[in-house]
Amino acid sequence: MSKIRVMDENLANKIAAGEVVEKISSVVKELVENSLDAHATHIVVSLMDGGLKSISVLDDGDGMDKEDALLAFSRHATSKLYRDDDLFFIDTLGFRGEALPSIASVSRVALKTSFGEVGTFLEIKGGKILRNEASDARRGTEIQVSDLFYNTPARLKYLKTEASELAGCVSLIERLSLSHPGVSFSLSNNDRVLVKTSGSGNLHKCIHEIYGLSVSSKMIEVRASNDDFDVYGYICKPEILKSNRNHFITIVNDRVVKNYDINRAINDAYYTYKPDTKFPIVVLKIDTDPTLLDVNIHPTKQDVKLDKINDLYDLLLKMIKDALYQSLLIPDAVKKPEYNEIKDQYVENFIKEEEKKEENYQSSSQVALDLSYEGEKEEPIIINEELKKLVLYPVGVALGTYIIAQNEEGVYLIDQHAAQERVNYERYLKALMEANVATTSLLFPIPVELSMSEFLTIKNHLSVLTNMGFGVEEFGVNTFVFKEHPTWLKIGYEEESIRKIIDIIIKNNGEFDPVKFNEHIAITLACKMSIKANMHIGPDAVEELLQELVLCDNPYNCPHGRPTIIKFSIYDLERMFKRVMN
Ligand code: ZN
Ligand code: ZN
Repeated sequence: MSKIRVMDENLANKIAAGEVVEKISSVVKELVENSLDAHATHIVVSLMDGGLKSISVLDDGDGMDKEDALLAFSRHATSKLYRDDDLFFIDTLGFRGEALPSIASVSRVALKTSFGEVGTFLEIKGGKILRNEASDARRGTEIQVSDLFYNTPARLKYLKTEASELAGCVSLIERLSLSHPGVSFSLSNNDRVLVKTSGSGNLHKCIHEIYGLSVSSKMIEVRASNDDFDVYGYICKPEILKSNRNHFITIVNDRVVKNYDINRAINDAYYTYKPDTKFPIVVLKIDTDPTLLDVNIHPTKQDVKLDKINDLYDLLLKMIKDALYQSLLIPDAVKKPEYNEIKDQYVENFIKEEEKKEENYQSSSQVALDLSYEGEKEEPIIINEELKKLVLYPVGVALGTYIIAQNEEGVYLIDQHAAQERVNYERYLKALMEANVATTSLLFPIPVELSMSEFLTIKNHLSVLTNMGFGVEEFGVNTFVFKEHPTWLKIGYEEESIRKIIDIIIKNNGEFDPVKFNEHIAITLACKMSIKANMHIGPDAVEELLQELVLCDNPYNCPHGRPTIIKFSIYDLERMFKRVMN
């Protein structure tokens, strides 16, 4: 007699539940993806107490007959999902056949479903079918999962607070909405709507519905292709950055995925358009041949591996850089009210300020949802070349730091240090990339004494200095003497600049990515050589700085990503002074 005993199915389900269901949002994900698979065009998710009490998903999809409905709750039932063209989807569907029975084994489930003729109603508790009867015949499925983990108290402890589970669900539904703009989604908690999309099929409109007008009006459309990838989507102007990467939304073949290299391409493309600690909102739909996707990945994770990732990296980097370069990016000083901030606050302060927030939210969301969508008649894109014709007339300098300028569109404030830092950065970077370096001899050669180890490091990398245009020789113990330097070094700052460059070579010991190295040198020198805040500059210098700034590749940010220039439009000013009322 075999010693192997078949594991009790219900036990197996409970074990699987621990792997599949980690959070409320993983249950919601499972149920909503079932709705999407059933071709639903309207999906309504209603939570009670952030889903801790109950999760209900209502759809207008294909629905099931009684046989299928029963089968959906038995393990390994859904082999139909393993179609060839679904190979990629195994990353979410690997457990699909097990997820529903697993969820049902650790909760109470009520299911009402119909394919349009007779309806079926099932009630399941702890994996046992309690009721199985006929129901009304509205086409679609309504499933309610309550008291998750009621019979596995150890698991129950892993669920987080209501606010944090709710935040996870909001983020999930936002991502699903963006990956399926043709499907209308609604998510509510305790009868309050948090996410609502129309299912118009228009990605920009969907972004508008999720992030509000303040974000959607600041998105730039992007599009690019190569032999293997078609990319379409929206990237934000650098004025609306977020403090985490959660809004890098990449959708590969209609699935929201995570990929380190795609994220790196986005981040690198925004280099110097933003500070290192801030991140843009980016929604990219990437279509590719499913055979380029690696499916051998953990089933509950969204990570995906792609062949030809380097080609995709290059494509995305160029696409985003070009789009930023071609756009006018001067931020408005006056911020418009933001729908999604109200929602973020609502989710975050959910428990503490529930009552107070309710009023705020109700009135604000009313307004936000009623805003008419104007995505179709977008303003004509003003390209960077036009900015270069932009004339800023200086008015004066305020607080010793901010240049005030004006033109027929409004008033501008320019940070004098940031602006000059940008001008110098681009000048140095271009000079560093120049193949033929113009050099100047020093009348008085500059000796630089180093420690033994520093001396050896520089000796090993002496070609870095000579390639940059320095004439340098060994000169006694641990000392180099500089006799020539590239002409772009600022006069009077030669020694300081040389010491900075030596520092950077020593810090980069052995690791010489020439692009990064040049950027590093250019940023460091640009900061050093630029006029500081509270340093006086005369009217001629101001005018020259403004002219140079508008000619930069990126006039909007200093090389550390901080803004150089902000704008008060005439309209903003008139509104603030109540010359116009609205
Ligand atoms: Zn600086
Ligand atoms: Zn800076």
